[in-house]
Amino acid sequence: MPDMPESLAPLETAGADPQEVLHRVFGHPGFRGRQEEIVRHVMAGGSGLVLMPTGGGKSLCFQVPALCREGLGIVVSPLIALMEDQVAALRQQGIAAAALHSDLPEEAAREVRRDLARGAVKLLYVSPERLVLEGTLSRLAERRIALFAVDEAHCVSQWGHHFRPEYRGLAVLAERFPGVPRLALTATADPRTVEDIRAQLGLAESPVFRGGFDRPNIRITAAPREQERAQLRAFIKAAGDGTGAGIVYCGTRAKTDQTAEWLRADGHDALSFHAGMEATAKREAHRRFARGDAVIMAATIAFGMGIDRPDVRWVAHLDLPRSPESWYQEIGRAGRDGAPARALLLYGAGDISLARHRIAESPATEEQKRIERARLEAMVSIAEAATCRRRILLRCFGEDGLETCGACDVCLTPPRLFDGTIPAQKLLSAVLRTGRRFGVGHVVDVLRGRMTEKVAQFEHDRLPTFGIGRDVSEQSWRGVARQLVAMGALDVAIENHGELVPTEAARPILKGETKVMLREDALTRPAPRERGGRGAEPAMAGEPLFDALRAWRKREAAEQGVPAYVIFQNDTLAAIAERRPQDEDDLAMIAGVGRSKLERYGDAVLRVVREAG
Ligand code: ADP
Ligand code: ZN
Repeated sequence: MPDMPESLAPLETAGADPQEVLHRVFGHPGFRGRQEEIVRHVMAGGSGLVLMPTGGGKSLCFQVPALCREGLGIVVSPLIALMEDQVAALRQQGIAAAALHSDLPEEAAREVRRDLARGAVKLLYVSPERLVLEGTLSRLAERRIALFAVDEAHCVSQWGHHFRPEYRGLAVLAERFPGVPRLALTATADPRTVEDIRAQLGLAESPVFRGGFDRPNIRITAAPREQERAQLRAFIKAAGDGTGAGIVYCGTRAKTDQTAEWLRADGHDALSFHAGMEATAKREAHRRFARGDAVIMAATIAFGMGIDRPDVRWVAHLDLPRSPESWYQEIGRAGRDGAPARALLLYGAGDISLARHRIAESPATEEQKRIERARLEAMVSIAEAATCRRRILLRCFGEDGLETCGACDVCLTPPRLFDGTIPAQKLLSAVLRTGRRFGVGHVVDVLRGRMTEKVAQFEHDRLPTFGIGRDVSEQSWRGVARQLVAMGALDVAIENHGELVPTEAARPILKGETKVMLREDALTRPAPRERGGRGAEPAMAGEPLFDALRAWRKREAAEQGVPAYVIFQNDTLAAIAERRPQDEDDLAMIAGVGRSKLERYGDAVLRVVREAG
């Protein structure tokens, strides 16, 4: 255990009070949300399912009872990088934690097994395939087990987007260890997945703890994709604080590489990540992302589980996500430290149509297609929303009540709606008159009366629609087209050349039977006022003591080969910089400073404070 010096004996926690352990080990003043209730339930021997958004604080729900109950706590985790980082963080806190997975060199695995045999491990992280080996199970059967925690429990469900067949094997835990509490945890709240998890893990009779899904510190913005790079550049400038990390989600593998390259040329420390990469390259990317300062990852959604970094400051999507669930999970990776964070969603009419076509043509059953379609349409309605985006989003998770959040672009700068029936009719009729054979560019040229080669070639200047929309900008016409696509009145023929095709829903619009309310184009709106989300804290970057503390933390992390946040999180450093503790007692009062960290780093931190004057 390289990061656990011999002089520091593991903390004794079995039999202790959860509140006391929360304070002494983790340095937190109190439980959050439903944590306390969940911990009490497990302490009393109960099993259950915990649904909380990413960053909601799931880890403590099993870590605290695992420490306070007698015996070994076992945590099933699907991803090696995630295990390693959590184990490193726990050891920093003085917990005898270890990980067992297929990537561990044989010698290291032997050492873990030896430590296990002599009772020197309190918390064991293990991959599902390792755990369900007969050898492992029978060895565990001889021991006292504090609890089983199944992290990322949606992996058990074929409905979830991360199905892992090995997770199915976990059904044996209920049979083999009937008296041991089982706590499953996930950020996916989709009802079907939830029921699947409960059935698979034998939790049908156990309670479901649903934490609040709102993440008010993440400010949400969505915008039509106009000039992707300029939009991304402006967003990064506004969102990055020069210390935290950022993630750019891209729709394709090729785009992750292009985006990373472009970002590097733009002066950022950027990497790319996608499922097609070698396992070692993936692990290295994870490692660099976890340890770098202001590092940006351009990735497909394959980059997900295993991002434990609490100070991701922003997440941008360059393409429309498949569902509100996946989008929320992805943006939920920002701001887990509770400090202000931002999310940007860029989308276009092409994305929407492409996604619809993919569903229609997929080999899935009609039932599955129906579900996928409903998810996609919910996502489109968030993108094109004229009312609070967070409200629509939270309703997808069964949370109603929020009126306006004050921290999304719609709330900050409400879009104006106008009766767009006439422009909609003009555009639809231009599509029909040109024979449903052209993409949005040509249709807009016809509306604006531009004499292009194509217009001349097809003699479209003779059409009655030619030039009837001169008074409206090209940008705005594209906005009208996109909103008609979002509404389902137009389709984009992706499989051909992206030509616009009116649907059944276009007919009542053309006949004047349906009124079309359009949002004024996002581009013509003034930029949102600068304001942090709820719970905003002053940014400390640039404050000399804060910077000195960060520099110290960086050296310390590099020396130990662990991510910086494992030493102290940013909010802890910010609190130290603000309060300037003079002695260990002052320091111990700061949230995030538990006993083990006090012993390890107290002197060094106090020295940095003194030296900064
Ligand atoms: P999840 O696993 O649900 O994504 P984590 O368990 O990683 O979330 O917790 C997210 C962040 O919230 C972490 O930085 C953690 O230190 C912090 N946190 C969790 N519970 C508390 C608490 N009771 N008090 C203070 N900070 C907390
Ligand atoms: Zn809002």
